[in-house]
Amino acid sequence: MESFPGDRDTIAAIATPPGVGGIGIIRISGSGSEELGQKITNKKLGHAKPTFTDFVFNGELVDQGIAMLFRGPRSFTGEDVLELQGHGGPVVMKMLLEAVCALGARVARPGEFSERAFLNEKIDLAQAEAISDLISSASVSSAKAAIKTVSGAVSEEVENLTESLNDLRVLVESNLDFSDEEIEGLDDGKIISRVGQVIDRISSLINKADQGIILSKGVTVALLGQPNVGKSSLFNRIADKEESIVTELPGTTRDLIKTDILISGLPIRLVDTAGLRDTEDKVEKIGVKRARVVAENADLIIEVKDLSRKEEPASNCEQLAHENRLVVYNKRDLRDEDERIDLPEGALTASAVTGLGIDLLRNKILERVGFENDESVFTARIRHIESMRSAVNILKSAELELVEVSSLDLLADHLRQAQNELAEILGSVTSDELLGKIFSEFCIGK
Ligand code: GDP
Repeated sequence: MESFPGDRDTIAAIATPPGVGGIGIIRISGSGSEELGQKITNKKLGHAKPTFTDFVFNGELVDQGIAMLFRGPRSFTGEDVLELQGHGGPVVMKMLLEAVCALGARVARPGEFSERAFLNEKIDLAQAEAISDLISSASVSSAKAAIKTVSGAVSEEVENLTESLNDLRVLVESNLDFSDEEIEGLDDGKIISRVGQVIDRISSLINKADQGIILSKGVTVALLGQPNVGKSSLFNRIADKEESIVTELPGTTRDLIKTDILISGLPIRLVDTAGLRDTEDKVEKIGVKRARVVAENADLIIEVKDLSRKEEPASNCEQLAHENRLVVYNKRDLRDEDERIDLPEGALTASAVTGLGIDLLRNKILERVGFENDESVFTARIRHIESMRSAVNILKSAELELVEVSSLDLLADHLRQAQNELAEILGSVTSDELLGKIFSEFCIGK
């Protein structure tokens, strides 16, 4: 891995979103930044001092705005960084970027600024990824979870864990030359309990990371059931807006209607499906088929039934093999308030008309998709969780082997492997290929 900031070329990109805005920013990073700033502004720029200036190229005025120079390592990338804040129009930004490139910079690849910040050890890999997640956050909760990772809180916990593993390694490796009887702490289970503690701490981190993934990706919930049981009405109630067409004729919801809602900050794609039933109507047939596909891929299906119907028609959704299914008996208002209703285990009653049972239904949805709505949640990537899971598995087998074969050699080896897995999260032992892939998914100018 390179670590000499001075060796890299100077890169530039428009850092503000495309389109028209009050201000547009060109960001430049690399050893040529300061000289480039001087050429385009005809001024000597000081560190972190905003300077109002003309931006001039080839003797022509391109734009006016503010130039800011950050000298490395006191910058985001750790290199000299120049920011040119001009007027936020696509043409003027393009002209300014072209001028900057003519003066020696090249256009940055997506994520290249963050990649340099990582390579110069300004941020670790988990933080770099969280910056990208923060930018694409779809809800306040997921933004909060991302900023936690950006700030380094998660990296710190991973580092603490790595250190605990290291302490254990030192203890184990320094005892390798002794026989089992001589090893302090091995007999009375001290080492085993310390391995156990690390496993517990990683497991708790996995749980929070799992939550973070649910939060940033969101979930899909599909409403299924016979026509006229009140799916569309329930959908509107849960989504709290008028989106689906409610009618008294069976089979009006002919296609999928989707809406994105938030329940306790969790983004949920709610899908109202065409009633699943046998039909000769060609259009409806397509709707039914699509409903099936959506249901099979949803994180949760809510099967709606009608409490007012004595003889319940056989529901086609029973044929669907979906593990996560919540049964809701709708139209509770049509039955006597005091009437005792025997429900199958786990089922709920509700009324889309009066709103009865809707809050409970919303909470149940969160529970069934595994969301805990906990403030300590942070954003994570699947690869982080995979690394943490492997670390736990490795440590678990180490625990077993320690009990069964009492081999310190094996234990030392496993501790090292688990430590490596955690190091992958922060990027200290990550392959160039994976790094390239991770950063290429960032947006340009980041
Ligand atoms: P879908 O075909 O399953 O989507 O059913 P709709 O939402 O279109 O509702 C069918 C009919 O049942 C409409 O006339 C609704 O007003 C009525 N309905 C839906 N939910 C309730 C409810 O909770 N109570 C009562 N009384 N009627 C309801």
